[in-house]
Amino acid sequence: KERHYSMMIRARIPGGVLFPDQYLVFDRLADEYTEYKNMRITTRQTLQLHGILKRNLKTTIKTLNEALVTTLGACGDSGRNTICCAAPGDEPFRDEMRHDLLALADRLSAKTNAYHEIWVDGKPVELGEGETEEPLYGEVYLPRKFKVAIVPEGDNCLDVYDNDLGLVAHIEGGHIVGYTVLVGGGMGRTAIDQDTYPRLSSPLCYVARDEAVEMILDTCVAIVTIERDFGDRSNRRFGRMKYLIDRRGMEWFREEVETRLGRKLVPPRQLEWLSGNDHLGWHVEREGISYLGLFIPYGRIKDTETMRLKSALRDIVHEFRPMIRFTSQQNVILSGIANELRPAIEARLRESGVPLPDELSHVRQNTMACVSLPTCGLAVAESERALPDLMPQFEQLFDELGLTDEDITIRMTGCSNGCARPYNANIAFIGRAPGKYDIFLGGSSLGIALNERFQETVPFEQLAHSVRPVLESFVQKREGSEDFGTYWRRAGVLKYCH
Ligand code: SF4
Repeated sequence: KERHYSMMIRARIPGGVLFPDQYLVFDRLADEYTEYKNMRITTRQTLQLHGILKRNLKTTIKTLNEALVTTLGACGDSGRNTICCAAPGDEPFRDEMRHDLLALADRLSAKTNAYHEIWVDGKPVELGEGETEEPLYGEVYLPRKFKVAIVPEGDNCLDVYDNDLGLVAHIEGGHIVGYTVLVGGGMGRTAIDQDTYPRLSSPLCYVARDEAVEMILDTCVAIVTIERDFGDRSNRRFGRMKYLIDRRGMEWFREEVETRLGRKLVPPRQLEWLSGNDHLGWHVEREGISYLGLFIPYGRIKDTETMRLKSALRDIVHEFRPMIRFTSQQNVILSGIANELRPAIEARLRESGVPLPDELSHVRQNTMACVSLPTCGLAVAESERALPDLMPQFEQLFDELGLTDEDITIRMTGCSNGCARPYNANIAFIGRAPGKYDIFLGGSSLGIALNERFQETVPFEQLAHSVRPVLESFVQKREGSEDFGTYWRRAGVLKYCH
């Protein structure tokens, strides 16, 4: 008799955008087939369904495909779900960014026909004339996963520097004139291997958009093929492109891209960042239309005794038909809402015990936790289930120190892999052993600096206590309106510790 294997299904949703009916399919599948009757928004703007019995895999994946959602490329050693700033609006650059995102997701998608044969209808997809089995990934795909992100300059809501490949859109007169291309970001490290490390991406070049979108796509494909051809396949720990770039150097990498493109690269532009916030709360989308960014506690869409979040979202989507946009900070934006419907939607949320973002503390809005236990096989400590118990302690501490309105990010993960992007958070707790965490401090609420290890293997109960003196010193010694990360770097770890 076969054991009852249970699986996780992750969808690929470029930019995190779903039509209302697509969202309702996920909601129904979560009820019908998941063990936990809930859904998890990931940091790559997609949904995970946990605890699906093996015998229900095909039905679930097939149903998603019938709703025009795929799971191909959501996992594995290929281009992962391409992420993009989720904020809607009527500025032309938003449509242009979406256009480029979809074109890029398509170019980086595996062209395998096995997926459909296995999961959809048992028949191989007919490939067009001249199409080989797998033109980009070949027979062995990439050495590791490959992450791509797109943002408008100034708005780093998705930590663009944490990706293997980042495109920063330069906007002039409401239109995208070109992209600065960043390469070599990645959060993952292995706690027991000192040679592994998180890295922020480095600027490579500028590519004009007004001439041809193809040039941008070709540049991205050239970068992916360099990782395909030269990335470390001997040890998965060093398979990400960041290690290749550091091993060979940026100059080598730049020349290799130029050789593949057959042209010289234009130097990158200087970048300026103004915000790392996640577009929470009500905002004007266009005339007469608003969008609402809702904080989803640690990305989990579920019903509890006190908060019927999953039911509330289902009812709102069913009745008011907003577009769904998952954010890279594991929240959701309901978009396309006529202004006169705002009170009805707020009432629906209140009835269900779902707070609006302005009813939540600033620090709570700036938190993220990875999935960790019980469903992640790599977890060594709690994360999603532990951070809610820690938050009241930090809320009290921030109140006490007058930091209530400060943009300080707190992130927790159940191991050093860094799925909740902890290494550029201002305060990060990274699972090291059951009930014990390494504390990292510094980082940047704009996502532009890495933090540093402050203390090791601190018991969960002492986390807030350990960070308190640093926050106190920040309050006492910050210069003007200096933010926490800048203060930390100026004061220095060693200076603080001695
Ligand atoms: Fe699992 Fe570690 Fe990723 Fe958390 S950071 S989801 S524990 S692999």
